[in-house]
Amino acid sequence: MNKLISNYHTHTYRCGHALPNPDEDYVLKAIELGYKNLGFSDHAPFKDIIHPGMRMIFQNDFKDYRDSILHLKEKYKDKINIFLGLEIEYMPRYENYYKELLNDYKLDYLIVGQHLTYDENRYPVFYQRFNDDFEGARRYANDLIAAINSGFFSYVCHPDLFLNHIQTLTPEVEQIFEDIALAAKKKDIPLEININGETNNKFLPLKYGCFHYPDINFFKTAKKIGCKFIFGVDAHAPFDFDKIDYDYFDKFLKETGISEEEVLKDLKFIKRP
Ligand SMILES: [Zn+2]
Ligand SMILES: [Zn+2]
Repeated sequence: MNKLISNYHTHTYRCGHALPNPDEDYVLKAIELGYKNLGFSDHAPFKDIIHPGMRMIFQNDFKDYRDSILHLKEKYKDKINIFLGLEIEYMPRYENYYKELLNDYKLDYLIVGQHLTYDENRYPVFYQRFNDDFEGARRYANDLIAAINSGFFSYVCHPDLFLNHIQTLTPEVEQIFEDIALAAKKKDIPLEININGETNNKFLPLKYGCFHYPDINFFKTAKKIGCKFIFGVDAHAPFDFDKIDYDYFDKFLKETGISEEEVLKDLKFIKRP
């Protein structure tokens, strides 16, 4: 496959689990590698939630994040297109917040990464509590489908994330593949082939006997259904751009039957709600 020239999935140190590099290092790396588009999509803050090691704090970090990316966008405008976004979970009670981010803070885009939800006491609730927790996987799928239908998100990050806790491909797992892909197809929302899942999670199967994203079976189903795809580096360090195993993804595309033309180069941002 051709080397990537667009990436809309880039984190910063503010999330608490990326390397401490300044934001500019990601821009310089992308320019060095010939990228045309670089979107920043750090883990979004929620105004009423503090979750160290997972996401920035709205009151402390959000203004700085926004200012920094907008500054870089201007500074490097002759070399690369920089976009301001966030990766965020969907919970219906935050609908006004998603609107605020897009309309008032003028973010270019939101992408949905449905890692967890928060309960009414603002405690994190993860979907799966043990391997082969199929009920948890189904809750994940239902929330992700609601996110797709909500119309706030320009693409779906690692749609097959739940496979990190699945050891057995059962008919119910295959049904989940199909339900997510059908929802994305219906709303014309691209599904991300997450590069970080391969770079940094590929040993999960050896250690835990589970699958990991991006998963060939999931993407075979999504291809059959006629979805759109996009690669996401999900960079948590500038050198993640150097670690992309293009031979692996060549094979991945062949095995899933996805042609390079079916993988978007430029992301179309959804209109502001
Ligand atoms: Zn994510
Ligand atoms: Zn991410």
